[in-house]
Amino acid sequence: MRIPFVDLKAQYLSLRSEFDTAILNVVGETAFISGKYARDFEEAFARYLRVNHCVAVANGTDALEIGLQAIGVEPGDEVIVPANTWISTSEAVSNIGATPVFADIDADTYNIAASDFEAKISPRTKAVIPVHLYGLPCDMDAIMSVANKHGIKVLEDCAQSHGATYKGKTTGTFGDVATFSFYPSKNLGAFGDAGGIVSNSAEVADRARLIANHGQISKNRHTLEGRNSRLDGIQAAVLSVKLPHLESWLEARRRAAAKYNELLADVDGVKIPFEPEGHRHTYHLYVVQLDNRDEVGARLNAAGIDTGLHYPISLPFMEAYSRFGHKPADFPVSYAQMGRILSLPMYAELTDEQIGYVVEHLKKAVN
Ligand SMILES: *Cc1c(COP(=O)(O)O)cnc(C)c1O
Repeated sequence: MRIPFVDLKAQYLSLRSEFDTAILNVVGETAFISGKYARDFEEAFARYLRVNHCVAVANGTDALEIGLQAIGVEPGDEVIVPANTWISTSEAVSNIGATPVFADIDADTYNIAASDFEAKISPRTKAVIPVHLYGLPCDMDAIMSVANKHGIKVLEDCAQSHGATYKGKTTGTFGDVATFSFYPSKNLGAFGDAGGIVSNSAEVADRARLIANHGQISKNRHTLEGRNSRLDGIQAAVLSVKLPHLESWLEARRRAAAKYNELLADVDGVKIPFEPEGHRHTYHLYVVQLDNRDEVGARLNAAGIDTGLHYPISLPFMEAYSRFGHKPADFPVSYAQMGRILSLPMYAELTDEQIGYVVEHLKKAVN
């Protein structure tokens, strides 16, 4: 059996005529950039999250940069980010002239540890970026309480957590601003690059929209120098077709994860994902820990099963950050897990038969 890591084609085929019609409508109306389709998606996504404002932009990395600027992060400021995340989170901080400061993660949730976030605060700290990694919400009570105590702004990176909830509230509605990626393989993915910024503050949302469209407040009037980061009509129309199905896709991912959990619960040497009380994990990724990770990965690949590593080198140890001179002992938790984690195939259309096949080969390789 061949089991891909993700299967984008299955989702396309399941709604093919709706996608094709939506795309042809955009082309027929030449509604290529921003415009009606982007506005419709912004409204629908804000309603889904139960947040006041959404600004659609070109991709999730732009969303981070613009989101940081919209809450007032300036060159010279420090922004605290988790050691284990995709590089966009820290790259966005550097790209606007601020400095990323890494914090270690929690050993069970893989998310930023509130205690290390607090330990990394300096007089220059302006903001923190909790990343709801793999689709699991961060401990937002702990993070918001540290942030409020020290007067630090919060940008939630929700690129992997569309629809994930913490104590009944969706991720992206706790901080000052939140950002989303709609990269094709994300839990809500377009047919190209796309991103979004959400906030309950009209002031933050207006500033984000201004920055994303050349600082143009009205035709030929620019109140600041911004940039070009707008959502195109085709991506917006595709996302609007997908959004009504997101909940059922997230439930399908949770069902697949529950099946993996059930079959792996008693397997020695396999640490399955943890879903703390009150957290709704949406399993963008299903990540396990193993003693012999590389060998297991190779054996699965040989059996036709694709796997991933998220992420094989935590950011403080990445060449791009050699300037900080970090050592393993600076981020012991992040360092300890990076050689042990393995991401198994995960998508809404994954069948019990496929999960059974993955687990059968995983068990053989572990023993
Ligand atoms: C995918 C991702 C991003 C960036 O999104 P793009 O749309 O690819 O620019 C940012 N942060 C995290 C955690 C991501 O997984």
